[in-house]
Amino acid sequence: MYHPFSWLRIAFSLTAYLVLFAIVGLILDEMALTLCLGILALLLNNYWQLYRLNRWLWHSRKMSPPSVKGMWEHVYEGVYFLQRRNRNKRKELGTLVTRFRDGAEALPDAAVVIDVRGTITWCNRLARIELGFKWPADAGQRLNNLIRNPKFINYFHEGDFTFPIEVASPVNPNKILEYRIMPYGEDHLLLIARDVTRLSQLEEMRKDFVANVSHELRTPLTVITGYLELMDNGGNDNPMMSKAISEMEAQSRRMKNLIEDLLVLSRIEASAERIHDRIVHMPTMLKQIEVEAQTLNKNKAHSINFHIESNLNVYGIETELRSACSNLIFNAINYTPEKGVIDVYWERVQSGVKFSVVDNGEGIEQAHLSRLTERFYRVDKARSRSTGGSGLGLSIVKHVLSHHNAKLEIKSKVGEGSEFSFKLADELVVENEKD
Ligand code: ADP
Repeated sequence: MYHPFSWLRIAFSLTAYLVLFAIVGLILDEMALTLCLGILALLLNNYWQLYRLNRWLWHSRKMSPPSVKGMWEHVYEGVYFLQRRNRNKRKELGTLVTRFRDGAEALPDAAVVIDVRGTITWCNRLARIELGFKWPADAGQRLNNLIRNPKFINYFHEGDFTFPIEVASPVNPNKILEYRIMPYGEDHLLLIARDVTRLSQLEEMRKDFVANVSHELRTPLTVITGYLELMDNGGNDNPMMSKAISEMEAQSRRMKNLIEDLLVLSRIEASAERIHDRIVHMPTMLKQIEVEAQTLNKNKAHSINFHIESNLNVYGIETELRSACSNLIFNAINYTPEKGVIDVYWERVQSGVKFSVVDNGEGIEQAHLSRLTERFYRVDKARSRSTGGSGLGLSIVKHVLSHHNAKLEIKSKVGEGSEFSFKLADELVVENEKD
């Protein structure tokens, strides 16, 4: 296709131009001089056009190019076309950014965009109100200079944003904000802060209520159990009465266990104890649990074997770890049919220390495994009741472990048995510390 700016056309124009000068040179009998003048004129004209182009690009405020004819007209048109295309693209991008910002401003939460170095790139109006950011003065500031809460700084530096955290607002300590961070774009993070004061007040009220009710129920129950024991010891000729009394005793024992477990759970939930403050002498503690386990084992006649590495201690909260370990061991005793084999391990493993209880009981179906740690979840309700279980044991274990930054692992095969275990991280391990 013919193009006004094709190389053929340029070559043709240049030849025609030179031929014209050659003819004039022939007529004047000054061929070389005329040709030189022609080439010089061509060169000067091109430099002049270059100068105009440069002036238009860098100094002129006019968008439309100066009017020129010939080859240069296409150059100007090309540049003009590119400029217009860029301007339209910038306009579209600007509209998109405005729309995004309007959307982010309409959010009911504070939103902050942070880059990889942790500096603030942008924040919405609610972030200015809830987090006290000043805009644009705080653009480029490091986020942890503005939100100075140690819990938030830890959360931000650890970089594990799977779960949100709740921290008091930097501008109002009575307000609780839930911070959620998610990767955004290529190397950006989006921080969303939401006011959850009401929710956390409700949660506090729920915890207080459970703790208070459990506490209040304890005294009347102690009185009832006391009288029932008295009546039982006094002996009763009426077989109906004595059956009723022993049933009442069993039920009040269950109720007592339930209340004790509810209180333990409330205590763990409300606990502000720090896990790095005290050393728990695990081998000594496990020896004490072994004695209790053997007492519980009297009717079951299991073979219970403890494999405990000596001098392997950890930082933690003793009452909580005792509760977690004994719950797992007592569950194995209660749920394994008579004359089973139960092995308890406390051993050093790669990157930490592991506690595990392995039994050769009936095992648990896969479908139940993920729900076992829910409050009051039982695989077989009737059986759990007969063991006096509250349904809160594994829930307590889960809370204790989460307090110690660990997780309960459950492996089980129907007909073969179960393994309940947890690992504590290397940072919590204290070796060669005398008991
Ligand atoms: P409970 O107080 O009823 O024992 P837990 O929370 O301790 O409640 O346990 C939840 C359920 O998990 C139990 O009802 C039981 O069915 C099952 N379970 C726990 N440990 C074992 C085990 N070692 N073998 C088989 N089933 C178990």
